[in-house]
Amino acid sequence: MMQFHNYIGGQWQKPSNGLWCENAEPATGQTFSQWPDSGSEDVAAAVASARQAFPTWSSLSAEERSYWLMVLSDGIQEKLEEFAQAESKDNGKPVVLARTVDIPRAVANFRFFAQAITQFSSESHSMGSEGINYTLRQPIGVVGCISPWNLPLYLLTWKIAPALAAGNTVVAKPSEMTPYTAHLLAELCMEKGFPPGVLNLVHGKGASAGEAICQHPAVKAISFTGGTATGKRIAGIAAPAFKKLSLELGGKNPTIIFADCDYQTMLSQTVRSSFANQGQICLCGSRIFVERSIYEQFKADFIQKILLLKPADPSDPATRFGALVSEGHMTKVLDYIRLAKEEGGIILSGGKRVLLEGRCREGWFVEPTVIEGLPYDCRTNQEEIFGPVVTLAPFDTEDEVLQQANSTEYGLSAVIWTENLSRAHRLASHLEAGIVWVNCWLVRDLRTPFGGVKNSGVGREGGMEALRFFTEPKNICIRYGA
Ligand code: NAD
Repeated sequence: MMQFHNYIGGQWQKPSNGLWCENAEPATGQTFSQWPDSGSEDVAAAVASARQAFPTWSSLSAEERSYWLMVLSDGIQEKLEEFAQAESKDNGKPVVLARTVDIPRAVANFRFFAQAITQFSSESHSMGSEGINYTLRQPIGVVGCISPWNLPLYLLTWKIAPALAAGNTVVAKPSEMTPYTAHLLAELCMEKGFPPGVLNLVHGKGASAGEAICQHPAVKAISFTGGTATGKRIAGIAAPAFKKLSLELGGKNPTIIFADCDYQTMLSQTVRSSFANQGQICLCGSRIFVERSIYEQFKADFIQKILLLKPADPSDPATRFGALVSEGHMTKVLDYIRLAKEEGGIILSGGKRVLLEGRCREGWFVEPTVIEGLPYDCRTNQEEIFGPVVTLAPFDTEDEVLQQANSTEYGLSAVIWTENLSRAHRLASHLEAGIVWVNCWLVRDLRTPFGGVKNSGVGREGGMEALRFFTEPKNICIRYGA
């Protein structure tokens, strides 16, 4: 049995309450590791070590901090295969996905912010002959980073990298469902002699370790990615203490397909945008709106492709569709499929748990599921399922699809498939979403702002937005005098 420890002040630490929780492999349902069920004492120790490290780390030059981020980027790259195997085992995602998307992205996150910080500048505002203002962007101090299980190292490093680059010290909590690659990152920090206390990783449950980070008075900013209900709870703790807050929350994203699209590209990309990582990506499109003239053709072709997506052992390099992250999450997804039927939905494909043979016979697998015949405003079409479930609906006009696409409480991302340029621009500007992809999905340029509107979040990550979040602007006004 592997045992993950907290990483505090550059050293492994056991939980001070002596409590451990079990962590299972989703593909087999079998426990393979334990993580510390940390409490407020462990968080306090991590914050103390981050506070101690702050003066030295924040006074390093941008080039020196950049150097350390590159050490981590290169270190993950050197161990890419070990990280990929760990991510797949811990999360249930196909190892090929971890190897080609998750871990390369963690490498890129550190590299990107290592470079970005050397280009980060601040503003000055001339007042003509009267004087000048210039703005310093200074690190905040100790910041908290809390991340989810769906893209464990990818999203953890997406927060840690800009926080560190900007000169903050960090107390981070990975999801308790997927602690493995955070443990490997801590191990890498120790191996490479990363400055102790600058990055601290505390494992634990959201309600205990997570809330302790949010509540600690010395944690001045919280960057959180996870569910909308959790975001609301965190905002309730952080807002009265006037902490800076960045919230990346849930989604219920529309995919809008017009008859004039590049059909074959749209088809293969819509399979991806629906079912990549078993639909457990906040950016997956779970409501597919198809112009009526191609609806039946799309339905037939889409389902033919979905039938090729067979849930299988994620550790097999040929597997493209793995397990759901936990038994609880599998039950939630199956409950939503049951609800869809009660609401009048017709299951066109999938809809059931899959029981595999051999090593994975007790794993948490659900078929990719396609449903039609549901009204746009029913619960299945309004609530986030966050699994391998999509609905199909035909539409006739642009106004109609826009209204239906915008009808949920969420506003993270949207995809438009059309060759009509005017329509693409028009719709993109009216969709209530932080990110709109036209004729593509999940094409990412790390310089762009990333985040959602409505109940999908507050604030933006990515590029200079992240560096601005993790710094405090201070304006200095100088009068020239006579
Ligand atoms: P979650 O909200 O349950 O947990 C996320 C993290 O928050 C975990 O580390 C958890 O331990 C911690 N947490 C839970 N309760 C807490 C509390 N009271 N105080 C402090 N921390 C707490 O989410 P999840 O199930 O891990 O992830 C799935 C959700 O994340 C989905 O809703 C998905 O859409 C969302 N998500 C959003 C984005 C985005 O960029 N907008 C990206 C990925 C996932």
